[in-house]
Amino acid sequence: MIKLKNVSKFYYNKGVIASGFTKVNLEFNMGEFVAITGESGSGKSTLLNVISGLDSYEEGEMYINGEETSHYSEKDFEDYRRKYIGNIFQNFNLVNSYSVYQNIELVLLLNGARKKDIKQQVLELIKKVDLYKFRNTKVSKLSGGQKQRVAIARALAKNTPIIIADEPTGNLDSKSAVGIIKLLSEIAKDKLVIIVTHNYEQVEPYITRKIKMHDGKVLEDKVIKKVTINDDKNHAISYKNITFGNKLRLGLRNTFNIIPKFLLLFAVYLFITVALMGEYASFKQEEHQASVAGYNYVFQEASPNRIVINKKDRTPFTDDDFKQIAKLNNIKSIEKRDILLDMYVHISGDNNFYIGGPVKSIDSLSDKLAFGRLPEADNEIVIGGNKYDYYLSELKDELMDADLYLADYSYGGIDKNLKLKVVGIVYYDDYQDIIYCGDKLLEQINNNIMKEYNYTRILFMNNYYESNYYSTYFNVRPNKKVSPGKVIVSSDLNWSCEYENCINKNLKVEVSNIYYDDSLNLTISNTYNRNNMNTLLGIDDYDQNNGAIFISESDYNRLFNKGIYQSSVFVDDDREIDTVVKDLDKLGYHPLALKNTLVTDELPIIRLVKTIVTIILVFTLFFISYFIIKIILKSRNVYFSTIRMLGGTRKISKQLLIIELLAVTNLVYFLFLGFLYLNSLQVINFRFVNDMINYLKFSDYVILYLILIGMSYLISIKYAKKLFKNSVIKTLVEEV
Ligand code: ADP
Ligand code: MG
Repeated sequence: MIKLKNVSKFYYNKGVIASGFTKVNLEFNMGEFVAITGESGSGKSTLLNVISGLDSYEEGEMYINGEETSHYSEKDFEDYRRKYIGNIFQNFNLVNSYSVYQNIELVLLLNGARKKDIKQQVLELIKKVDLYKFRNTKVSKLSGGQKQRVAIARALAKNTPIIIADEPTGNLDSKSAVGIIKLLSEIAKDKLVIIVTHNYEQVEPYITRKIKMHDGKVLEDKVIKKVTINDDKNHAISYKNITFGNKLRLGLRNTFNIIPKFLLLFAVYLFITVALMGEYASFKQEEHQASVAGYNYVFQEASPNRIVINKKDRTPFTDDDFKQIAKLNNIKSIEKRDILLDMYVHISGDNNFYIGGPVKSIDSLSDKLAFGRLPEADNEIVIGGNKYDYYLSELKDELMDADLYLADYSYGGIDKNLKLKVVGIVYYDDYQDIIYCGDKLLEQINNNIMKEYNYTRILFMNNYYESNYYSTYFNVRPNKKVSPGKVIVSSDLNWSCEYENCINKNLKVEVSNIYYDDSLNLTISNTYNRNNMNTLLGIDDYDQNNGAIFISESDYNRLFNKGIYQSSVFVDDDREIDTVVKDLDKLGYHPLALKNTLVTDELPIIRLVKTIVTIILVFTLFFISYFIIKIILKSRNVYFSTIRMLGGTRKISKQLLIIELLAVTNLVYFLFLGFLYLNSLQVINFRFVNDMINYLKFSDYVILYLILIGMSYLISIKYAKKLFKNSVIKTLVEEV
């Protein structure tokens, strides 16, 4: 069956050569029960390991069933072990975290059996070694004698023709030892059993042959009992490859059956998942913040989510325009009269109240009012600002009580035509005040501003005069008391008319801007002076108004309220603003996303450094986790050596490990996703998680998942490679 011819085994250890045994000539046959004795260090274990194919030999020839083995590869020896050898060790080499049943079942599963087919067989083996009561007990809880009986049952389960036992009773009391020897002797009837022992007397009654070793050599080889040698047939057992289902079963069993190891792996994977995601999210957040930082020289309101639009055909916006824009994705609001956003409107009152800021439609107010109510009448407004602002906090009651006026654009004074009332206050973190009002007031303010943006000139008595922002002279103003088609001018102008009488004379107002030109032919209906100004126009302040020309509100609106030529769209998520820009362009608008026009002071080198630091950090995290996982896996060496000793291949070991790591990866990953989901539902609320949810996209989650899977895969491959670099026995021994 097995024949050794001048076989020698050397150990190379850091340049020192030690001899395991030298020039051994032996032959073993089926039916024999061989005891090998000899003092410690005489080479007994080495001999058994070589015979078992667990270790290599350096010299001589070893024959298995007549076949020479010097050309055997690692795979051939694996195959040999699976077909021929059942090992029993002094220190048992069982899987401590498995139950008795699972330990015995393991070897059958590895050999391709189906779980349900072998139940009876495993239970019978357990009964045979008298451990039925303990079949579901973890091996780590058994006594030494019981453990060795499990090892024997396991060897029997494999049903190999050869059983090799290295001091199986070395760790047992004499009573258990005798039991074990008896068991082995029964097996030996139709197998070849080779046993190493220190206690020859104990085995003498049972053995058929005695070999004594000394200093690496066979000193004595004596037949005790004659056996009929039955070597004419091939005793090799046949086996199949382990099924996928059983790999999965074992992999998952390994994931959870050592709780501390599982928790440790779980913690490391959780750490890397959270750290990678967190780091990546905060990087994206910073990128985003950098992309929205900065200012714009033209637009005061340079929010990153604002897109300024006008129509490609230069016509005014219609309601249909706004309707179709509102239907686009990611639209938060439309500020139709967006000019007001970039204006700084002053509001002041008699008792020195002073509020200043852009004007917005009350429809765009999404925050809750801190005080008061929303506007109802045309002249009612809501003020938004910082809660530490003196006017908005301490003086808020007085403010809401006061008569306020819009500052006049033309001369910076107060326009008493427009009396305003604050009815609500809303607080922000920002220090900028914002004035919210209804559409009517918005239009009124807008018209005033439009007037300033138009080029306005007056044709009067064959002379052109500019209507100027800086002076009141020929400044066009609306007045309720003037009839349409009429204009009331200062009596100071009378000198330029014939007979110093301008009544019924013609005056033309011409208005132009980039979108349109228009003009208005008016008839002078009256002239005002210091005394009649109040009666004629309802205005007290002569000095501030003298020189201006007053026209009816409807004429004023005809000139300056020509419709909306520029608007702004606000998006919900500025990170997706480019999509909205494209959509608007397709619909026939010129879009300008202000986010892309911002000017910043940050140096590009700083961004580069930040990016590099993030990359280094991510790699460091990755490798820290990688090494910690590798360290945790070192504790698995015994398990995988055992698997290998039982005939499991490198591929099986690798696959079992991959399943185990992937189980943890997926568990951690999907638990974490669940956690994010709960957070997004507001069931729980963690700020750092909210940042992640806000800044990570679906593709980021996929990439992270692939990174985790890839890492697990890499670790499994490297681990298996390292494990199989050494002989089984070396990995087994090193861990003991
Ligand atoms: P036994 O089992 O009879 O006590 P061993 O087979 O374990 O003896 O050892 C035989 C010889 O080989 C001893 O001299 C021992 O020191 C040496 N030896 C065993 N294992 C190793 C090893 N891994 N590296 C170097 N020398 C070894
Ligand atoms: Mg030994």
